[in-house]
Amino acid sequence: MKIYHTSHLEISKSALEHNLQFLKDYIGKGVQISSVVKGNAYGHGLEVFVPLAEHCGIDHFSVFSADEALRVHNASSENSTVMIMGLINNEQLEWAIENNIEFYVFELDRLEKALQTAQRIGKIAKVHIEVETGMNRTGFAMNQLPAVFQLLKNNSSYLCFKGLCTHFAGAESIANYYRIKKQQQVFQKAMKKVNSAGLSAEQYHTACSAAAFRYPKFQMDMVRLGIIQYGFFPNKEILIEYLTKKKVNKNPLQRLLTWKSRVMDVKKVKTGEFVGYGTSYLANSDLKIAIIPVGYAHGFSRNLSNQGIVLINGQRVSVVGTVNMNMITVDVTQVNSVEKGNEVVLIGKQGDLEISVSSFSEFSEQVNYELLTRLPENLPRLVVD
Ligand SMILES: *Cc1c(COP(=O)(O)O)cnc(C)c1O
Repeated sequence: MKIYHTSHLEISKSALEHNLQFLKDYIGKGVQISSVVKGNAYGHGLEVFVPLAEHCGIDHFSVFSADEALRVHNASSENSTVMIMGLINNEQLEWAIENNIEFYVFELDRLEKALQTAQRIGKIAKVHIEVETGMNRTGFAMNQLPAVFQLLKNNSSYLCFKGLCTHFAGAESIANYYRIKKQQQVFQKAMKKVNSAGLSAEQYHTACSAAAFRYPKFQMDMVRLGIIQYGFFPNKEILIEYLTKKKVNKNPLQRLLTWKSRVMDVKKVKTGEFVGYGTSYLANSDLKIAIIPVGYAHGFSRNLSNQGIVLINGQRVSVVGTVNMNMITVDVTQVNSVEKGNEVVLIGKQGDLEISVSSFSEFSEQVNYELLTRLPENLPRLVVD
């Protein structure tokens, strides 16, 4: 691929292989892994990521919406299952049913429309019934379930009861323990209701990355793993709990993503001069600065003005002045022989040093999830070993 862009992302195949092997070993036997690839595969690039995951044996992908489902459908092999966990509109149902796309249903209108569509085109709609267990987002209330189950039962040749599911409201934080426990009890009641309706769902599933680790019993038939497959624990708490429980001191995951650019110019600044727009950075001594062609338009948050750190020639250097739309300036006074064209690492490793997304995002007060998914879709993603 020819790169015309001012920076690019490298996605490590071996890191993904490593993480998925770790997760397969860690997750219970017989529990299916659904790879969550919403948000452009957490910024890694959906079209790049899906075939890599398939190469590692993944055959189930979860997304938020129909547009993402279409992208996975086009990027994946015939054997993979695609599941929409969020929004599909009635107008998109025909396409989804026609192509065996599975989808969450959380209100009756959609279920009825799915049934009508399936009948009309003579195919079966594979639905996952989402239960409202206490997050108070989407999901059928408990008292709606009898009507839902009746509809499923009466129309089993057009509606496949593929799953019963819910989502926890913050499984990564122990502060939410009681709330999550209550959600689990509600979900178990819903499971009983399925039985007493004389039905059974093919798969019961509740767990995201954090829940799969903290509440292993709730891995059930399938876990929906997002952030963790990309090499990030959902937060420090889950990492520390894992390390303590396993009596190890090394993070078992590897990051897939490295963000690279190159120095576009180097110059000297005299004591007393300001760098960049306005007066946000005053040179206290004679400086050498390097200009990097990456700014907030490329996903380098403006909050990193006078705060961000990047790697050049194996050394950490600081952003000086404000982050511009397309450029940053960094202080390279202490770095020997910096030249135009030298590699700059914005996220990831260079030599022995690493800029982790989390330290980067702590600066910018964004969590990993947000920073990753805001990496622009048009940055080239290159697969590396
Ligand atoms: C995003 C999402 C997940 C995955 O969450 P991670 O914390 O990234 O593992 C699982 N389930 C649902 C419903 C989601 O929306």
